[in-house]
Amino acid sequence: MTTSALSTTGLTKRYGERTAVDGLDLELPTGVVAGFVGPNGAGKTTTMAMLLGLVRPTSGTAAVLGHPIDHPSAYLHDVGALIESPAFYPALTGIENLRVFATVGGHDPDRIPALLELVGLEGRGDDRYRGYSLGMKQRLGIASALLGDPKLLILDEPSNGLDPQGMREMRDLIGRLAGSGRTVLVSSHVLSELEQVCDWLVLIDTGRTLYQGPAADFLAGSDGLAVAPERPEDLLALADLLVAGGHLVEVRDDHLMAFMDGDAKRAAAAVNRAAFDAGIVLVELHAQRSSLEERYLSMVQGGAL
Ligand code: ATP
Repeated sequence: MTTSALSTTGLTKRYGERTAVDGLDLELPTGVVAGFVGPNGAGKTTTMAMLLGLVRPTSGTAAVLGHPIDHPSAYLHDVGALIESPAFYPALTGIENLRVFATVGGHDPDRIPALLELVGLEGRGDDRYRGYSLGMKQRLGIASALLGDPKLLILDEPSNGLDPQGMREMRDLIGRLAGSGRTVLVSSHVLSELEQVCDWLVLIDTGRTLYQGPAADFLAGSDGLAVAPERPEDLLALADLLVAGGHLVEVRDDHLMAFMDGDAKRAAAAVNRAAFDAGIVLVELHAQRSSLEERYLSMVQGGAL
């Protein structure tokens, strides 16, 4: 049985009228590198902040490494996080900064050289922090999050603001963070940044989950059925029918894309039958492959149901 590194049930955060996180149900298996992907404002940072006990949920529950989030002290020693830029001392070197963090956190400073190597800062540890590039600063932040050898690592948009070279270095680093049972949750607003290094994906928008599961299944699931009703006003009723039938549905102008597991012909027959029974005449019903990017974009542009 796989135990969860983290799970949430109906996790919700409202700021006044604005709902930042809307009834999120997440389940993250231990040991995965999970991409947490959604456009700006989707609720990624707020979710991560709740998991770290920094923001109190309005409702819902969550557990991190088996402990409820209302008692963060029970699990925070096993969690490393990079949310916003860490407050390093500009005049100190990378190594000196890590030593300060190790002392404050009660961590073993002997791990510092290995961590610098892991994040690709070997040979730069004696340079002052103020001279680091943005990518180096982010990687030093990850080294400091790793000081306690955490079981769960939470990184909020570590690639934000980096140039293509910096992004590639960050991607390579994230790929190296897996292993020894460590779970990594890393957010981004660009799926393509993470799809190569993540074995698990959580896609959210406006505080709600669009997809969560193995990254490979998301890639494989790009085969779908294009379905269009004769009467445009039946589109939403048809979408409801498809959702009730277990499909993931996206609205595309005058037609729907329905994604499902299993045999496409059998799914098409089931869709045809359900539409007929509901009095909806179909004028289009065929298998169609959409690209990953197309699928993701149509999901986050409000098409997913
Ligand atoms: P980004 O990629 O831009 O960081 P995000 O997915 O991390 O976005 P959040 O930062 O969690 O999204 O924000 C989700 C929503 O909640 C946004 O509409 C944001 O404006 C709102 N929000 C976040 N924090 C606060 C706050 N302290 N007070 C009021 N609204 C907030």
